[in-house]
Amino acid sequence: MPSVVELQVIQGVAEVAMDNPPYQTLSNRVLAALYSTLEQVASDPGVTALVLCGSGADFCAGSELDELADPTQRASLRGLVAMLENYPKTTVAALHGKVHGGGLELAMACSARVAVGGTELGLPDVALGLLPSAGGTRRLPQLIGADRALKMITSGRSIGAAEALDCGLIDALVAADVIAAARQHVARSAPLSASEATPVNTTLPTVSADFFATWRTSMERRSGGQMAPRLAVDAVEYGLSSCRQDALDREAELGEKCSHSAQALAMQYAASAERICRVGNLDGSVTANVNTVGIVGAGTMGVAIAMVFASADIGVVLVDASQDTLQKGLQSLTSTLQRAVAAGQMDSAQSAACWFNVRGSSDYEDLKNVDLVVEAAFEDLSVKQSIFAKLDRLCDVKTILATNTSYLDIDAIAAVTQRREKVFGMHFFSPANRMKLLEVVAATQTSKETLSAALSVAKRIDKIACVVGVCFGFVGNRMFSNYTSESNLLLLEGAEPEQIDAAMTDWGMAMGPLAVADLSGLDSGYRARQMQPDAPRDERYFRPANLLVEQGRLGQKTAAGFYRYRQRQRENDGVVMDLIGREADRLGIAQRRLDPEEIQQRLIYTLINEGARILDQGIARRASDIDVIWINGYGFPRWRGGPMYHADRCGLQAVVDGLKRYHPSPIFDYQRPAAKLVRMAQAGENFAD
Ligand code: NAD
Repeated sequence: MPSVVELQVIQGVAEVAMDNPPYQTLSNRVLAALYSTLEQVASDPGVTALVLCGSGADFCAGSELDELADPTQRASLRGLVAMLENYPKTTVAALHGKVHGGGLELAMACSARVAVGGTELGLPDVALGLLPSAGGTRRLPQLIGADRALKMITSGRSIGAAEALDCGLIDALVAADVIAAARQHVARSAPLSASEATPVNTTLPTVSADFFATWRTSMERRSGGQMAPRLAVDAVEYGLSSCRQDALDREAELGEKCSHSAQALAMQYAASAERICRVGNLDGSVTANVNTVGIVGAGTMGVAIAMVFASADIGVVLVDASQDTLQKGLQSLTSTLQRAVAAGQMDSAQSAACWFNVRGSSDYEDLKNVDLVVEAAFEDLSVKQSIFAKLDRLCDVKTILATNTSYLDIDAIAAVTQRREKVFGMHFFSPANRMKLLEVVAATQTSKETLSAALSVAKRIDKIACVVGVCFGFVGNRMFSNYTSESNLLLLEGAEPEQIDAAMTDWGMAMGPLAVADLSGLDSGYRARQMQPDAPRDERYFRPANLLVEQGRLGQKTAAGFYRYRQRQRENDGVVMDLIGREADRLGIAQRRLDPEEIQQRLIYTLINEGARILDQGIARRASDIDVIWINGYGFPRWRGGPMYHADRCGLQAVVDGLKRYHPSPIFDYQRPAAKLVRMAQAGENFAD
């Protein structure tokens, strides 16, 4: 078995390198090997200092996902951190790549930290429903102040090396060769005498009297039902007002409470589901040779997609129908890049590099030699077919062709080409430069090679790609369509828009369904329904939304939809309820008061039911892919694990019974319990099995 920790001693300095591919995690094996190596180095009289570093792409990516349930892992990490803090020799952490979780806690226990450009430092534990478990909630505030530390710990977000230097998390930043820089740091440090230990920093930052109360209020608002960020505030507060050992004990106690929570299990499930998408889909034998990408359509999506590829250092040719629309697209690219720099999402050098990688054109001839084309023109089958026919004639035989269609039949698009095996869907989510999710749509004749190439490109542009099959709306939009249809029915039955949206955000959704509909434009859903091949014929289908569109209320863009908008602020609009009330009368629907539980269950059961149908039809390969899609594309609460994981927690029979109770005489097919759901409930199975 290969060694997971390497030791070499050069001129009295021990270099200890963690080496645990492919994820560079702190597995139990790594922790044990580190412990014995550090003990060996500590007692070696020939060694004066230690440089702790990582092999491969990262210093250390944090805990091993598969071992999180094992409490000995957390205890071993605490032991290691304590050993490093009291180490009898100078210790310098040489940082590169990811320095996450336990990796950062180890680095913080060293006497100094040196990083190379591109290093990412963070405590992402809350993303797994956990707290830092080896002193992070005390040491990070000591190094960078309580406010900055709380921002990092409660969001789980990493910071870059420049910011880390600026706030004092690292001591030096170098352009290259971080090990050499760490050795130089050692050379400049006074050696510790044999009886000395690394001095422990006991200075605690001070905060104002209302500091933690303000943080608590803000967490109540922002944590969206999550427990770990709220407990992180408690841990930091306790850490800054107690002695070191009490602080560490309290952190461990709060950490254990999180570790045993249902939220932590759901979030860890979600993380493994994403990992399966990232690696489980890839056929290692195919690496895409994609160095240039053509994008057709310089509108909202085309511009953001161009930015995604260009940011990954892939050359982009952005084509639109005319010089005029192209110029608008390029202007929009400039302002999107400026906004990204202003928001700290990229620095100005990255923005310039991105801009440099994009070439605009209104001539399809310029797409002749690209490796991949992503079409993002209007959502209209005949427009897309004529574009694909043209691309097929023009592009090199090796070029693979993708469409960003939201709903349309990709088989019908592929059918106009002579290269059906090279046609597929790349369904990006808006804003494409921010959203991690990508549905890779395998059309009936898409070849394995094309699919593998698509997945390898997805990896390069750092998207979480889920492979899905062809149907109206694929996985995400197909489920979303039923979910919003049920919301529209609830409106006819007497619920108010705000009541529906509040019920769902209280449940944990990032936004309510009607606020989302207003944001994306009621007309886009309206147009999509007109193309829906199997749309229910019943007049009640999306009746409120259709009515609003017919009245010119298209959502935020017209400052009126399900709500009224003043400076983008949402307000209730009595006109809407009057309109829907009259329509309910006309349709003979008796309006009534609905409680939040009914709203939540009806909408979530609708999602689960359609998810089951999608699995039965093979449109999604795994239940966990559906969960990944909903968490990353539709604001489903990560701490509930996704709709299919949540179904298991409810019990599938309870979902079947709920659907029957709410819909004793189903109006729409989607309200009938799916055959697969019923079968699985009867067999006592779970989606996550
Ligand atoms: P958009 O209207 O903003 O942009 C479409 C662009 O395509 C326009 O600039 C138009 O000039 C150009 N165009 C039209 N016909 C063309 C042709 N024959 N050749 C070259 N350029 C042409 O639309 P959008 O919102 O960016 O959507 C584009 C595609 O992405 C659609 O298929 C849509 O369903 C899909 N999509 C949109 C979203 C979203 O939230 N907007 C999300 C996912 C997918």
